[in-house]
Amino acid sequence: LVELTHVEKHFGDLHVLKDINLKVTKGEVLVVVGPSGSGKSTMCRTINRLETIDSGDIRIDGKPLPQEGKELASLRAEVGMVFQSFNLFANKTILENVTLAPIKVRHMDKKEAERLAMDLLDRVGVASQANKMPSQLSGGQQQRVAIARALAMRPKVMLFDEPTSALDPEMVNEVLDVMVELAHEGMTMICITHEMGFARKAADRIVFMADGQILEQNTPDEFFEHPQTDRAKDFLSKIL
Ligand code: ATP
Ligand code: MG
Repeated sequence: LVELTHVEKHFGDLHVLKDINLKVTKGEVLVVVGPSGSGKSTMCRTINRLETIDSGDIRIDGKPLPQEGKELASLRAEVGMVFQSFNLFANKTILENVTLAPIKVRHMDKKEAERLAMDLLDRVGVASQANKMPSQLSGGQQQRVAIARALAMRPKVMLFDEPTSALDPEMVNEVLDVMVELAHEGMTMICITHEMGFARKAADRIVFMADGQILEQNTPDEFFEHPQTDRAKDFLSKIL
């Protein structure tokens, strides 16, 4: 479903992505781990073209990423992204946050978009907050709204970049629970996270990055029990 081949990227002199090759099949849940600065976020952001690449090829459903315009907007609709900061529109209600893109980009009618939004808000457990403003919600609730908003576009794949790292500890699990449920429902997911409990529970594959390279790709059991490289052993010794 998502395929990166020989992807290279520099920021000036900094070589941030070095020959990245990655295939994600439909329904697969990938967890990307690695030290700070290893290029995890950059790699994720290339998939919906928030970052351009210097060379290599990225395909979604066999199609190369569009460069601009309408096609790029529809690509962004197919690739849902949830960041560390919730990025909700502060001056719109929770319901409007979720209906905005389906109405604008998918040309869904308002009633239908609202029905879909309420369904999704219900699924992530915040339907009762639909008419509030984002600032009236807790961080965990806002992040669940952000997930509902991405899902409203019926994405083929969801990218998560440390969705829980800005949350108070007691709110982390309510967001991870939603992600675990999505994973079990067969959503294709690429998740950057330091939550190793989630990685063990939900991941089909762990991708370990260091210095802009993918050094290991393995099942959670294999990765955690038998890391192959010194970098991965070192990383695990620091976080486990
Ligand atoms: P973290 O775990 O801290 O989020 P990361 O693995 O996500 O790290 P990236 O954010 O992808 O790492 O950054 C990789 C490298 O690229 C870092 O050295 C970072 O400073 C650099 N970098 C990221 N974005 C830019 C940018 N827009 N311009 C210049 N350098 C950048
Ligand atoms: Mg990052």
